Amino acid sequence: MVKETTYYDVLGVKPNATQEELKKAYRKLALKYHPDKNPNEGEKSLNRFLKLTKFSLMQRKGNCMTKEENRQLKRVEQVAVLAPPWTSLICFLEEEEGCREKGKNVVHQLSVTLEDLYNGATRKLALQKNVICDKCEGRGGKKGAVECCPNCRGTGMQIRIHQIGPGMVQQIQSVCMECQGHGERISPKDRCKSCNGRKIVREKKILEVHIDKGMKDGQKITFHGEGDQEPGLEPGDIIIVLDQKDHAVFTRRGEDLFMCMDIQLVEALCGFQKPISTLDNRTIVITSHPGQIVKHGDIKCVLNEGMPIYRRPYEKGRLIIEFKVNFPENGFLSPDKLSLLEKLLPERKEVEETDEMDQVELVDFDPNQERRRHYNGEAYEDDEHHPRGGVQCQTS
Ligand SMILES: [Zn+2]
Ligand SMILES: [Zn+2]
Repeated sequence: MVKETTYYDVLGVKPNATQEELKKAYRKLALKYHPDKNPNEGEKSLNRFLKLTKFSLMQRKGNCMTKEENRQLKRVEQVAVLAPPWTSLICFLEEEEGCREKGKNVVHQLSVTLEDLYNGATRKLALQKNVICDKCEGRGGKKGAVECCPNCRGTGMQIRIHQIGPGMVQQIQSVCMECQGHGERISPKDRCKSCNGRKIVREKKILEVHIDKGMKDGQKITFHGEGDQEPGLEPGDIIIVLDQKDHAVFTRRGEDLFMCMDIQLVEALCGFQKPISTLDNRTIVITSHPGQIVKHGDIKCVLNEGMPIYRRPYEKGRLIIEFKVNFPENGFLSPDKLSLLEKLLPERKEVEETDEMDQVELVDFDPNQERRRHYNGEAYEDDEHHPRGGVQCQTS
C-alpha cells in the first residue's frame, strides 16, 4: 500500500532537503490530503498517513530502523506529529531551526599582511570538502537499496560478551564492524558508482574571502553552511581566522599604528624632515622645526594616519612614533672642536671636588657579568626583575 521507502520519499524530498524544503513539502501534502483544503483537517489526515508509513516501514524492516532512518523520522515528525495547529506551525518551524542538528564547523587560518588589513583584499582559498553525492542524491544507492545492518540491527554498535572466569562475563561495546557504525548497508551491486555507497564525495571548492579594511588579527569570517555536507544534517560553517604576519616597520595597537624612528643627534637638536612610506604606498613627511628638541624616547603622533576603522574605513587611528636618538661614537670630535661645541651647548654645572670624595672608575655595564657574580649568592632572584614594557623599540 505504501510503496515509498523512506520518509523523505513520502514527502517527495531529497535526503539533503533543507528545513525550508521539508516545510514546503509538508504543507503541499497537507493540502493534498484534504479535498476541502481545510488546513486543520488536512494536517490531521496527513499525520495519520505518516503514522501509517512509519508502521509499514517498521514492519517491512522487521522493526529495525537505521540511524539515518531515525534521523529522517525525527526531522519529519518535528514538522508533522509534534507540530501545533497549522497557524502556529511556521513559528514552530522557525524556532526549531535554531536548534537543529548541525555538522561540524571547519576552521581555516588565513595568513594576511598588515597591508591587506589596511587596504582590504580578496583572497581565493582552495579547499576540499564533502558534498552530498549528486548521482544518488545522498542515498548511497538505488531507492530502497539501503538495508538495516543485520549485525547490529541498525544501532551501529555491537556488544561482545567475554567469559572472563567461572560465572563472570564482560560486556564490550564497540562500533559495528560490518557497517562502521552507520547502522545500515547497501549491497555492493546496488551501490552508487559515483560515491561507492558513501553518500558523499570530496569536492574542490574555491572560497573568495573578502578582507575588509580595518579587520584585525584573529578576526573570524564565517561562510554559513559551507562546511562538510552530510545526509540528514545541516552543513556546518567554514570559519576563516585571519592571522596577521608581523610588519617590518609598523606594529598595530588597536586602531593605532606604532613605529620606532632613528634620528641623529643633529636632527634631535636642530630639526629634521623624514619621509615615511604608508601601508597604502603613499609617502608622508614629518617635520621637526628648528628650535624643537626631540629627546630619546619621545613619543609623538600623526592623527588620521593609523589603521582604518572597521566598517568606517574613512576614519583612521593615529600613527604613533617613538624616537630613538643616535648619538655619535666616541672621539667623533677632536678636543679643540669639542670645546667649540661646548660653548654652543647649554652650560654645565661644575662640581667642586673635596678631599672627602672618592674618585671611582666608570665602566660599561654588562648584565651577564653581574649574573655571574651573584650566581653563588642569594641575590640571584633579582634577575627576574628586568623591566619589560609593552612594545619597545628594538635595539640594533
Ligand atoms: Zn552494523
Ligand atoms: Zn552516490
